[in-house]
Amino acid sequence: MDREALTFKTEVRQLLDILANALYTDKAIFLRELISNASDALNRVQFELLTNREVVDPEAELAIRVEGDEEKGTITVSDTGIGMTREELIENLGTIAHSGARAFLEHLKEGASAVELIGQFGVGFYAAFMVADEVEVITRSYRPQARAWRWRSDGQETYTIEEAEKEGRGTDVILHLKEEAREFASPWRLKQIIRKHSNYIAFPIYVGDEVVNERTAPWRTSPQEMTEEAYIDFYKQLTLDDEPPLLHLHFVADAPVNIRSLLYIPRKGGISAVTRRTEFGLRLYSHHVLIQQRNRDLLPEHFRFVEGVVESEDIPLNISRETVQSSRVIAQIRRALNKRLLKALRTMMEERPADYTAFWNEYAPFIKEGIITQPFDHDDLVPLLRFHSSALEGDALTSLADYVARMKPEQEAIYYILGDRLESVRHSPHLDPFRARGLEVLYLTDPFDGMVMQTLREFEGKPLRNVDDPALMLPPLEEEREEGDEAPPSDETLASLRERIKAVLGERITEVRPSQMLRGHPARLVSAEGGAARDFEQVRRLVEQDYRAAPRILEINPRHPLIRGLAARLERTPDDPLIELAIEQLYDNLLLLEGLHTNPAEMVPRLQQLLEVAVGSDA
Ligand code: ADP
Ligand code: MG
Repeated sequence: MDREALTFKTEVRQLLDILANALYTDKAIFLRELISNASDALNRVQFELLTNREVVDPEAELAIRVEGDEEKGTITVSDTGIGMTREELIENLGTIAHSGARAFLEHLKEGASAVELIGQFGVGFYAAFMVADEVEVITRSYRPQARAWRWRSDGQETYTIEEAEKEGRGTDVILHLKEEAREFASPWRLKQIIRKHSNYIAFPIYVGDEVVNERTAPWRTSPQEMTEEAYIDFYKQLTLDDEPPLLHLHFVADAPVNIRSLLYIPRKGGISAVTRRTEFGLRLYSHHVLIQQRNRDLLPEHFRFVEGVVESEDIPLNISRETVQSSRVIAQIRRALNKRLLKALRTMMEERPADYTAFWNEYAPFIKEGIITQPFDHDDLVPLLRFHSSALEGDALTSLADYVARMKPEQEAIYYILGDRLESVRHSPHLDPFRARGLEVLYLTDPFDGMVMQTLREFEGKPLRNVDDPALMLPPLEEEREEGDEAPPSDETLASLRERIKAVLGERITEVRPSQMLRGHPARLVSAEGGAARDFEQVRRLVEQDYRAAPRILEINPRHPLIRGLAARLERTPDDPLIELAIEQLYDNLLLLEGLHTNPAEMVPRLQQLLEVAVGSDA
């Protein structure tokens, strides 16, 4: 077949453009990416060989070779891996089939560095163009009848494919180095980069006759022989993450199942960056063979953000990827790992509280999801929960257990308030009666917190109660009215004010009633139905367009100057348009404090009118 020219997909072209201009100091990572691809290809052929000897070159050593030619200015990275057919070449190197590419480009636009992201997005091959102005790939698939192909590109618009000569199975990637990158062809430099970035690759990496990498599998090493530095090094090579992890857990056991495992919690990688993490799961090995690249059955689903490696001699090598899931051994491993991980998190809470807070800030949504969806895991997950609280300064966090330890002897429940921002929650009128009685209130500002409370209902026998529950009873307070406190309006005046408010707000509220609870605030909104509906509102507001809060009871504080003033004005000049404006604005203020206002900007024209009245128009 003749040489055929094909055009790169748009995203590939954009990517190549960015990489060609990458910082010089970052360029060395091209080698890590090519070696990582070679290693993936070897893993796959190794897995194939377990059940199928009908492949090209079944006896070939599973190895990677890196050769530099300083004269010619070339580097060749070869492997005896799975190879590629012509279709696979086009699919894998001509398009970015992986969803990662688009996300990668978007992150770049947001200012992330290309090198930090490159490995995580499955676009590593193109890193070759950081140092080469021409790349050749000569490859032959492991399939018995497969022919060899040469792919070639200068990293601009197009690439070509033609038939090639190649004896054995696998892939050679040949880089024709740019002038300024020729130093990479030196064997000394190649060895240095391999030791730094690819030391833990499981297959031998030859430069000349020498095997350069250590090939140790840290998870098979005994924990006594590992150093802190080695844990971090391995993490970086495994995940291509530049930052050290928040937690590492090296767990080795022989009974009831054989487990060699090394787990990590990345510092970044939670839901806030959900587009960044495209894949979750642990690497699963058995008898030194990688069975699965990303296994999600080795830990409960809510811990899917954990990275690492698990090996077990008890997993039969001929297990198919489909039957892994239902294997009894996997279930045993999962139980053991889950227990260890929880223990490690508890230790972290006690010994490294700042790191635990970092963990919580990053992974809270996963833990809450676990609580909402996995009733049997509550005992595991509830101790991990953290909340803001009226008893703490700033944005410090508390556990439910610590709240209970601070409870007053006569206190019957754990109280919480829902809102969308810490600042508005702190100023909520609902807190008046709790402040007056010195009762602590948890501040729940995450939309899913309400669902968590509904799911749990209680903690250590104490009910969880929303402060705006209409049925809520608090211990009576000795009257301690301040000197000079004004008397409330007469019953009659108050009744007509209540009537007017109801007339203005109509269906938006269910009723207007005087409050027993309020002190410093003029009014508050109380759930008419209470319970679950209220706790789910924050989430519904998030997912439903045009969501309007369910009508509530409006409680007014007859002793507050605003309410007294309104009542007096209504008596004096019932037709004053200011009355309606004030009622509307009061209601909007309350919605805002509840975190339920859908569009605060709507208030501006009315606020303007009120300001005009306040400033006076006689200027
Ligand atoms: P990723 O490795 O994350 O998939 P890359 O851009 O590094 O992304 O590689 C793209 C694809 O090209 C790989 O998924 C693989 O299918 C194919 N590929 C790259 N290098 C090799 C190789 N040495 N042998 C076989 N296939 C390869
Ligand atoms: Mg890769």
